[in-house]
Amino acid sequence: TVVTRFAPSPTGFLHIGGARTALFSYLYAKRFGGKFLLRIEDTDRERSTQEAVDAIFEGMAWLGLKSDFDEIYQTRRFDRYKEVVQQMLAAGTAYHCYASKEELEQLRAEQMARKEKPRYDGRWRPEPGKTLPTPPAGVQPVVRFRNPADGQVVVRDLVKGEIVFDNRELDDLIIARADGTPTYNFCVVVDDWDMGITHVIRGDDHVNNTPRQINILQALGATPPAYAHVSMILGSDGAKLSKRHGALGVMEYRAMGFMPEAMLNYLVRLGWSHGDQELFTHEEMIAKFDFDHVSASPSRFDMEKAYWVNHQYLKTADLGLIAGEFDWHLRRLNLDPANGPDLKAVIEQQRERCRTLLEMAEKSKFFFADLDGYNEKDAAKHLTAESATLLEALDHALAALPDWDVPALHAAVNGFAETRGLGLGKVAQPIRVACCGMAVSPPIDQTLFLLGRERTLARLKAAVS
Ligand code: GLU
Repeated sequence: TVVTRFAPSPTGFLHIGGARTALFSYLYAKRFGGKFLLRIEDTDRERSTQEAVDAIFEGMAWLGLKSDFDEIYQTRRFDRYKEVVQQMLAAGTAYHCYASKEELEQLRAEQMARKEKPRYDGRWRPEPGKTLPTPPAGVQPVVRFRNPADGQVVVRDLVKGEIVFDNRELDDLIIARADGTPTYNFCVVVDDWDMGITHVIRGDDHVNNTPRQINILQALGATPPAYAHVSMILGSDGAKLSKRHGALGVMEYRAMGFMPEAMLNYLVRLGWSHGDQELFTHEEMIAKFDFDHVSASPSRFDMEKAYWVNHQYLKTADLGLIAGEFDWHLRRLNLDPANGPDLKAVIEQQRERCRTLLEMAEKSKFFFADLDGYNEKDAAKHLTAESATLLEALDHALAALPDWDVPALHAAVNGFAETRGLGLGKVAQPIRVACCGMAVSPPIDQTLFLLGRERTLARLKAAVS
């Protein structure tokens, strides 16, 4: 069965590129009824932080990318890595190297002077018939992998096709430092092996690690997994994605008002296509995702398109699903979602006109809290002496309504405008400013219905007093 993993280093939040890699890994596993796991690569203790670990879990949870296993931390697996180092030493696929830092620096300087590529020269590498130097006293050796001296490593990448590496280009990699701690590439190898990973899906910044990892796997007698190296995400201008292209962290997109489902839909199309289809349900993504249609060239982040996708979701998604996220936004604006109409009813009225949930929450404040003043321009235009008389009369008319429902409010407001020979806007705009604080809202009958009798009448009175 297929087993994939997402293996972030917890040095920051879950960013867009990481989220897309996680999504591809998740989808590929699910597509084949396999398993997906989340592994925290926290061996670099200086750069890893608990906040970053929390932020990654938070981002994954928000996106709904669930791991099929308990979370795995590399720092909890050190004993296992050490065990494999010992196995390799015993098997002769790894060896101790006592070369000091100074020695290696000197070697490097000499190679540079000769215009050679700096590399370890194998001075402690055992070879048949070679006499090794005597280990210096009191020096803790590092452990190096005995990389094959010649031949090639052929990576059949699911995205990039065949990539060939010459073993002569690869150093004898340090797998354990002098203090015994295992190094990054080695931990990845042991993990992928132990966890039965069948497909390694990751950013193409790791391509050059792949031949080393394959060689180590082979030395361990393991069958290397398949690899899929996914290209970078660039900004809309083709430059490396950075802050100025918009947000980088997934949770920033939540704050901007994206639905997690819309975010996934936007991300799946970054580098992958299925004909010209843009919108996918979760099930469709799983059923259709494949690496044959993942582009080998970088994709560009397009904020306008992300907004468009989000709007499509807001317009069509299940109201209950949107309500959960809408609730979060209202609270974030210090509003009490319980102090107002049913959220689903508000969403139904607002969703055509809002591209994001933040926009929706901001445009719906007046449903959940007292007005904190009027929009100045709107008030100057619509709350005039003339409209005050209108609003007063209207207040009486609405107060007399036996039923507070949409048809009754519709008839009342329209009738009121007609009797006075006024266009509906002449009446509706002053009501909006009085009741919503601004001249934009859903249709006036719907707005007043949702706002409720008490709040409507109180606000009409307040506007003319
Ligand atoms: N920990 C690596 C990163 O965050 C990923 C390693 C891998 O997927 O093999 O970039």
